[in-house]
Amino acid sequence: MTSKVENILQHYFGYQTFRPGQAETINHVLHTKNTLAVMPTGSGKSLCYQIPALAMEGTAIIISPLISLMKDQVDALIANGIRATYINSSISATLQQERLQKIADGKFKFVYVAPERFESSFFVNIIKSIRLSLVAFDEAHCISQWGHDFRPSYRSIVPTLKQLHNIPSFVALTATATKEVIADIQDLLHINDQCVIKTGFERKNLSFHLVKGKDKETYIRSFLKERKDESGIIYTATRKQADTLYSQLENAGYAVQKYHAGMPEFERKEAQSAFIHDEQTIMIATNAFGMGIDKSNVRYVIHYAMPMNIESYYQEAGRAGRDGEPSDCILLFSPQDIQLQKFLIEQSEMDEPMKQNEYRKLQAMINYCHTHNCLTTFIVNYFSDLSSEHSCNRCSNCQNEGEKTDITEEAQMILSCVKRMGENFGVGMTAKVLRGSKDKKLIAFNMHKLSTYGILSSYTEKELTEWIHFLIAEQILSTVEGKYPTLKLNKNSVAVLKGNRKVWMQTAPIPSNEEVDFHEGLFANLRNLRKSVADDKNVPPYVIFSDATLRDLCRYFPTSKDEILQIKGIGERKYEQYGELFMQVIQDFKKEHPEIKPKVQITNTHRPIRKKTTSESTHDGPSHIVSYKMFQSGKSIKDIATIRAMTEQTIEGHLFKAFQDGYPLLWDIFFNEEEEDVILTKHEQLEEKRLKPLKESLPEAYSYRKIKAVLVKNKLM
Ligand code: ADP
Ligand code: MG
Ligand code: ZN
Repeated sequence: MTSKVENILQHYFGYQTFRPGQAETINHVLHTKNTLAVMPTGSGKSLCYQIPALAMEGTAIIISPLISLMKDQVDALIANGIRATYINSSISATLQQERLQKIADGKFKFVYVAPERFESSFFVNIIKSIRLSLVAFDEAHCISQWGHDFRPSYRSIVPTLKQLHNIPSFVALTATATKEVIADIQDLLHINDQCVIKTGFERKNLSFHLVKGKDKETYIRSFLKERKDESGIIYTATRKQADTLYSQLENAGYAVQKYHAGMPEFERKEAQSAFIHDEQTIMIATNAFGMGIDKSNVRYVIHYAMPMNIESYYQEAGRAGRDGEPSDCILLFSPQDIQLQKFLIEQSEMDEPMKQNEYRKLQAMINYCHTHNCLTTFIVNYFSDLSSEHSCNRCSNCQNEGEKTDITEEAQMILSCVKRMGENFGVGMTAKVLRGSKDKKLIAFNMHKLSTYGILSSYTEKELTEWIHFLIAEQILSTVEGKYPTLKLNKNSVAVLKGNRKVWMQTAPIPSNEEVDFHEGLFANLRNLRKSVADDKNVPPYVIFSDATLRDLCRYFPTSKDEILQIKGIGERKYEQYGELFMQVIQDFKKEHPEIKPKVQITNTHRPIRKKTTSESTHDGPSHIVSYKMFQSGKSIKDIATIRAMTEQTIEGHLFKAFQDGYPLLWDIFFNEEEEDVILTKHEQLEEKRLKPLKESLPEAYSYRKIKAVLVKNKLM
């Protein structure tokens, strides 16, 4: 049995191994046991019913409340050479009749329907009369009244289904189910405890980042500069925020779309379709966007403001990385977000107990924004009622541990300046006074006579502004809202001023895809080809191949049928349709760039790869090369960071990446021979090769930068 199932996995879907939970679920279904799979978004729940159905005789009926997803799922199956169709209210009556006839003739392996379909006795009679392999309930939490998205019409069809005697088994699938919901589904569909498969809530390809005290728009711009060509969603808390951000970015020339409930339906549809078809890569939206979006190559989700609870946050952020490739989820936090969410709850029409419940959930969300522990673990604990202290090593809290700077002294200067200014001014003016600006207004107020005037003049106004925002975010400074919000000291400020409390500032580097181990030039060519093939077939590009597949093609440069079938996501059928086409592009690329070898070898042989355009010009090219050139021209990391408005860590990452691409680096400025020896010896001894334990086992003077540099140079990172 096992080998048959694995053959199907390879032949139709082009994957070599199962993901956690898949094999187990499939096995139960093959033994005609009613089964429930609780697995996170993007973990591959579809294969859990698709593979057993392909292994069995008959037609599988998939019930899904998300009409918008059906077409894509059916397209994806057809692209893999599997006969599938869907019936819902979006198709004409004639077409429905045609499809129903074919279903009655047993022509399909898969039929996707909305729950309402079972209210039609005509449909039920057809289902009754054919051979079935299984019935799947996708988004099964919707059948439970305890779920966060209860659909009564979904629950009400269960009795009808139970009366049909030709259903070998039910498979229920969901990403979000609390204990109550699981028990409810089990009860309703008669599922044994042994047939409930849970794989945990963690999604290992997502990195969570929390960014505080930054100017949000500036951060987003630097982020987009760093991650252009990638697809991403920016969620705002209100329509107004979406509109504003949209115009700012559009004016700045970014390929943006927007989506919120205040727009006419056709505009929303158009925006969604442009995004799904990779025409425009950035979607700015309120939470109205996303239900039923299955786009697998969303590489980042940025929250422009804190959402109302962890449930919504995880669901929205979780739209990143469905294809399993590394993706980033970033929350830009400012204390005003809390006021806004409180206001929204206050204004809502919920009754008092409901409101209290929402406040409680909001508090957990606020705690997430203030925790110093692992962000991933915080979320997992929230959903599973655990209190684990595991570190994911990907989130911003895990990564920046130790890379905090003590800014207590500067904080004291800022706070005493606020005090001397009579707690009567806002962020901008305070930064100007600290900086020692000659601003007229400042002089008119006699601020240049204060003892704190110019005490932080070695920093830029921008840096000072960020620090003040950071102090606000950390609740070390308060603001009084009004037409001109002013700064006020609070209990925490006093503790800092008295020296009873230290202030640590975490930097928030732009998460960059530092481990790009595939050739980006080739990737762009393949992506263009994918787009034109997809347009021809009128399907979204990710239905043809996922980003994960394209990346693999750029890692291994396959040139024969055998080789290309090894690539994840390419089965027989996809090979027949597109194999030659894509291999041709790879061949052409190799011809044009004979010096380039597959990346896998390049990192070993250490050969420089240079795209023509970047080797000639000085200021152009990928971001890391720009930093590299500035570095080679004699600028310090700190200067480059200031000039490029990035953090030193980002710049340092750029230099390392350039080295990994084959550009030479002089290592003396990072470490000396003795230090290198010490670090390598420790690395050798340590069982856990992660950065943090290594740093902890070394003397204080060994900074993260030093350690990383040694590891990069020795190809240990
Ligand atoms: P879910 O319904 O759990 O959110 P999907 O079924 O839509 O997830 O699958 C998400 C992505 O993962 C799809 O692109 C799918 O092809 C891919 N996938 C599923 N199973 C595997 C596997 N065993 N190996 C590699 N990729 C897989
Ligand atoms: Mg799914
Ligand atoms: Zn973590």
